[in-house]
Amino acid sequence: MHDFVVIGGGIVRLSTARALLRRRPSSRLLVLEKEPRKTETYARDSVSRAKAYNR
Ligand SMILES: Cc1cc2nc3c(=O)[nH]c(=O)nc-3n(C[C@H](O)[C@H](O)[C@H](O)COP(=O)(O)OP(=O)(O)OC[C@H]3O[C@@H](n4cnc5c(N)ncnc54)[C@H](O)[C@@H]3O)c2cc1C
Repeated sequence: MHDFVVIGGGIVRLSTARALLRRRPSSRLLVLEKEPRKTETYARDSVSRAKAYNR
């Protein structure tokens, strides 16, 4: 049994999950991600690119 279920492991939903856990540390939260190996989101990719531009 979970208090929260977050569907999707992208940056926005993981940030939401983090915020929920910070507000309710003892709650049980489940993140469901459909991709078996989620390695990169567009937002994360843009951070990589921003770092490259700033070199
Ligand atoms: C082509 C393109 C380029 C972009 N470029 C930039 C950029 O340069 N800089 C920038 O800041 N933003 C960019 N964005 C926007 C950025 O991708 C989004 O704002 C951000 O990634 C959204 O995060 P999210 O967590 O909402 O969704 P996503 O990162 O898309 O994550 C959603 C997750 O939910 C999962 N999911 C979907 N359906 C289900 C389901 N039924 N069950 C379980 N899991 C599911 C998906 O597998 C995915 O992992 C771009 C977007 C696109 C489409």
